Amino acid sequence: MTRIAIVGGAGRMGQILARGLGALDDMDVVALIDPHEPAELYGAQYRADLESVEPIVVDVVVDFSVAVNVVHSARWCAAHKVALVVGTTGLGANHRAELAAAGERTGVVVAANFAIGAVLAERFAAWAAPYFERAEVIELHHDTKADAPSGTAIAAAHAIAAARREAGRGPITDTTTTWTLENARGADAGDGVRVHSVRLPGLVAHQEILFGGPGEGLLVRHDAYDRASFVPGVALAIRTMNRDAGLVEGLAALLS
Ligand code: NAD
Repeated sequence: MTRIAIVGGAGRMGQILARGLGALDDMDVVALIDPHEPAELYGAQYRADLESVEPIVVDVVVDFSVAVNVVHSARWCAAHKVALVVGTTGLGANHRAELAAAGERTGVVVAANFAIGAVLAERFAAWAAPYFERAEVIELHHDTKADAPSGTAIAAAHAIAAARREAGRGPITDTTTTWTLENARGADAGDGVRVHSVRLPGLVAHQEILFGGPGEGLLVRHDAYDRASFVPGVALAIRTMNRDAGLVEGLAALLS
């Protein structure tokens, strides 16, 4: 049985992870850590901070909180040799340096997207990229998303560009000569791989990667309908990571 403490346990993701991971046969969520008391405890203990948690009762800390707090989780996990899985986004170079330092003393996984389907979609796209003349990415999200394009779309575009370069294919040249409306062709994420962002109420998180070649097209699409889509990826990380040492960046590295 793997004993888990969730940092950010009162948040939207923290609550979904507490319920989802706690329902698995091989996992026991023992503590929810958050300055705010969680709406539901799902059988776990509530603690305001990691300092009030006995390290001996925790095997893995799962952090879905705020970027500034990740440094704190990294230091606590490193000091007590407790493994760490980080889903918190918006990490800067200082946070990443702290996670790398923690990875010298304990196992650390950090991933900006724990949806297994999204990670596989990027892998499929990189596989297809060298065989098509052009590729474009369309990401579609709910209308309250602040940033555009999504980090997942940028990562997919970069993976496509890298796969094309590796195969000796040059950048994609856009043949549009007249833009009747500015930016109608989206943004070039590098090597001519264009990314388009759609924002609509009712959507959650969706992505289409479109390939075109002579006489054929290919569409790789991923849909996240619910935040529950992140739970299996977090469970996979907990189960497959090396808990003793090493920093793993991105869920793809753990998919066989
Ligand atoms: P949220 O605002 O609902 O929850 C964040 C929680 O962190 C809050 O309850 C807050 O009180 C708590 N918190 C703040 N400071 C803290 C501290 N010092 N110690 C412990 N807890 C603290 O946000 P959310 O939607 O649950 O998302 C949380 C994070 O997870 C965000 O960075 C989000 O982008 C990220 N996220 C990542 C993935 C992924 O696949 N990697 C998926 C969804 C969300």
